[in-house]
Amino acid sequence: MITVYKCELCNREVSQLTEHHLVPKERGGKDFPTANLCITCHKQIHALYTNRELAARLFTIDRLSNDEKIKPYFIMLLLLFLHSSLNKKRLMLQLLKH
Ligand SMILES: [Zn+2]
Ligand SMILES: [Zn+2]
Repeated sequence: MITVYKCELCNREVSQLTEHHLVPKERGGKDFPTANLCITCHKQIHALYTNRELAARLFTIDRLSNDEKIKPYFIMLLLLFLHSSLNKKRLMLQLLKH
């Protein structure tokens, strides 16, 4: 059986989660809550923001998901999702034809 986890940021179901310190450890976040994120989201966050930005204003999932800078990433995820479900539909239609 495959265990499925849910990413707290993009809400996708994934096979592996990583722990993100909402306030980076080097900014004194050792005792702050962590969030369980998929690898893609986690990489994206650290590519977009510095630890200082994360500690100063993006220390909750809510704040992160409403930030302007991360919106294009969510749009991309949505497009990818639509794309893959369209392909699935096409595949189904193809299968039905035969
Ligand atoms: Zn995610
Ligand atoms: Zn992190």
